[in-house]
Amino acid sequence: FEMECRVLSIQSHVVRGYVGNKSASFPLQVLGFEVDSINSVQFSNHTGYAHWKGQVLTAEELNVLYDGIKLNNVHHYDYVLTGYTRDTSFLETVVDIVQELKRMNPKLVYVCDPVMGDQGSMYVPENILPVYRDKVVAVCLVGYIGLHLFHLMVLMIMLMVSLLFQVMDLLHQMGPDTVVLTSTDLPSPRGDQFLVALGSQKIVRPDGTKSTQKIRMDMPKVDAVFVGTGDLFAAMLLAWTHLHPNDLKAACEKTISVMHHVIKRTMTYANEMAGQGKRPNPAQLELRMVQSKKDIEDPAIVVEATVL
Ligand code: ADP
Ligand code: PLP
Ligand code: ZN
Repeated sequence: FEMECRVLSIQSHVVRGYVGNKSASFPLQVLGFEVDSINSVQFSNHTGYAHWKGQVLTAEELNVLYDGIKLNNVHHYDYVLTGYTRDTSFLETVVDIVQELKRMNPKLVYVCDPVMGDQGSMYVPENILPVYRDKVVAVCLVGYIGLHLFHLMVLMIMLMVSLLFQVMDLLHQMGPDTVVLTSTDLPSPRGDQFLVALGSQKIVRPDGTKSTQKIRMDMPKVDAVFVGTGDLFAAMLLAWTHLHPNDLKAACEKTISVMHHVIKRTMTYANEMAGQGKRPNPAQLELRMVQSKKDIEDPAIVVEATVL
C-alpha cells in the first residue's frame, strides 16, 4: 500500500494534441499520481496551428468547480500544478485556491510554470506580470519557474550563470525551494547544439544545517519548435522531485531524460510524416506522449547534471 499522491492540475485542454493538461495528466498518471484536472481553456488545438477555436474558463467558473469539490470535502491535495494563464483575475483566483488548499494541507506544494512569452514577444497581457511577482511567487513553495531568454529580459536579468544563481537565491527568498531555469539561452561550452538548464534547491542536511544544491545541465538541442514541452517538463519535475526529494540532480536528470526520449520519438515521427526535405507542420510535431509510456515510467538517463 503506497500513500496516494494527488495533484490538482489547472491547465489548458486541447481536443487534438498535447499541451497543458493533455501534456501533464498522462505522464503523471503513468507514474502513479492521482490527477484532478480543471481545464482553464478548452481549445480545438494549441495556438501555434493556423486555426484554433474554443472556450475560456472564467475566474467565476473556476470558483464554481472548486466549490463543488469543496462541498464534497474532497479538496485535499498534495500538489497544485498550473501553466499558461492569460487572465489576471483567473490567476488571482488560482492563488486564492492554492492558499485555501494549503490551509487544508500545509505540506502542499505549488508547482508553477509562469508562461509569459517566447522568442522576444509576450503572449500574455502585461498586467499579469505583477500578479506573478507579488502573489504567485509568495505561495509557490517548490516552484518551477520556466524562464526563457525572453522571460529573463522581462525580469531584466543579465545572462550570466553566477548572476542567474543569485537570482535563483532571490526567488528562494521569495518562496520556492526549488527553481529550475529550463532553457536559459546561455552559450554551452559543448557548442551551439546544446541547451543549458540551471537548477537550485534549498536542502536541509541530516545534521540540520541548510544549504543550496546548484546544478547545471547541457542537453542536446533539436532543430524544431515544440509546443507542450514546457508543460511536460513541469509535470515531470513535479513527479521526479516528489520521487527524489532532496536530490535535484537525480530529479532533473530523470526529467530531462524523459524530455529527450519524448522529443526524439516526436522528431522521428514528424520527419517521417513530413517526407524527405520537408519541414513538419504543428500537427505532425505533436508530442508522441502515449508512445513514450515506457520512457516516462523508467527513463534511460541520457544527460548528466553537474553539481556546482
Ligand atoms: P516551453 O515549451 O514552455 O517553451 P521550454 O522551451 O522552456 O518550454 O522547454 C522546456 C524543456 O523542453 C526544455 O528544458 C527541454 O528539455 C525541452 N525542449 C524544448 N524544446 C527543445 C528543443 N528544440 N530541443 C531539445 N529540447 C527541447
Ligand atoms: N496552452 C495552450 C492552449 C497553448 O496554445 C500553449 C502554447 O501554444 C500552451 C498551453 C503552452 O505550451 P508550452 O508548454 O509549449 O509552453
Ligand atoms: Zn511553457
